[in-house]
Amino acid sequence: MKNLITLIALALMPTAALAQEDAAPLPEPKWSLAIHGGAGTLNRADMTPEKRAAYEAALQAALDAGAKVLADGGSAMDAIKAAIIPMEDSPLFNAGKGAVFTWDGTNELDSSIMDGRDRSAGAVAGVKTVRNPILLADTVRTKSPHVMLMGAGAEQFAVEQGFPVTPPEYFATPARREALERMKAEQLSALDVDHKFGTVGAVALDQSGNMAAGTSTGGMTGKRWGRVGDAPLIGAGTYADNRACAVSATGWGEYFIRVGVAHEICARLRNKPSGWTVYAPLPEGALEKLQAEQEQRAQKVADEVMADVKQLGGDGGVILVTPEGHAIFSFNTSGMYRGRATSDGVNEVAIFGGEEQTSATPDH
Ligand code: ASP
Repeated sequence: MKNLITLIALALMPTAALAQEDAAPLPEPKWSLAIHGGAGTLNRADMTPEKRAAYEAALQAALDAGAKVLADGGSAMDAIKAAIIPMEDSPLFNAGKGAVFTWDGTNELDSSIMDGRDRSAGAVAGVKTVRNPILLADTVRTKSPHVMLMGAGAEQFAVEQGFPVTPPEYFATPARREALERMKAEQLSALDVDHKFGTVGAVALDQSGNMAAGTSTGGMTGKRWGRVGDAPLIGAGTYADNRACAVSATGWGEYFIRVGVAHEICARLRNKPSGWTVYAPLPEGALEKLQAEQEQRAQKVADEVMADVKQLGGDGGVILVTPEGHAIFSFNTSGMYRGRATSDGVNEVAIFGGEEQTSATPDH
């Protein structure tokens, strides 16, 4: 009986820990990273080779920055910040520079971050003068007794913590201003002018088995009345729990809030099926089979939660990593700007559905 309990416990552990208990040679410590730059109704006809190359290069740069941290043995926390900062700095994405405009013609930024080790979390909403909101969210996490700060108070906290005051004009780009003007002139909805949700996010598993998630956005074009979406809400746009997964979302925030998307995915994955029992010594191929099942289950859970969002009328997508090292995407839109890299040699960026070249199943 004791033996069986040990075996069940092993089956529920990350594979690195599992292998340590087993006589088989130890695998290399795993790491895994997934990023997104927004999901949406992306039209292949509008995607000129130049535009595609620009997005792919920006995604690859973000992916490489995060992957380097993980490959060098750095933390999941540092990796997601390294991946998100270049996307906040790029005018291509709706985060930091290039954020969408509010109805009043300002850029108001939302961001959140969570550490899966201890579920410490930080978030900011409606900030206008902080170049990298993901760093401010992380400072809320580490240097304040709070989880979420908003507006002028968040900016005051930023100054007290030594963040330079970024002039609001820094965030404005002609394309985003034109989208707001067109929205007003033609009485369009945010979805008509945005076409895609350009929020950015990253999730990572590091070599110590820790996970982290972060998300950063300008929200939706023409937002007013202090509207805040899912991106800065822990549990909706961002969640990380070492026992389950790390998730970052992009999409029509109101629906993601109502479903509690990021937490819902992690909650479902935390409750693992009792049937995952490993018998030692492992028969040939058993570990690979278990890992493939784990990947399929994580994909299924993410797809089911995204189907729930769709059923309510919302669209968008999520990225997640699992304790076993799978890097997974799920979206109910025609595309999602995305990328993933793992210690098993997966390294790819993609835009439209079904463009992945590789399976993210860890390879031993
Ligand atoms: N989820 C974001 C929001 O609703 C938008 C996005 O993903 O681009 O604010």
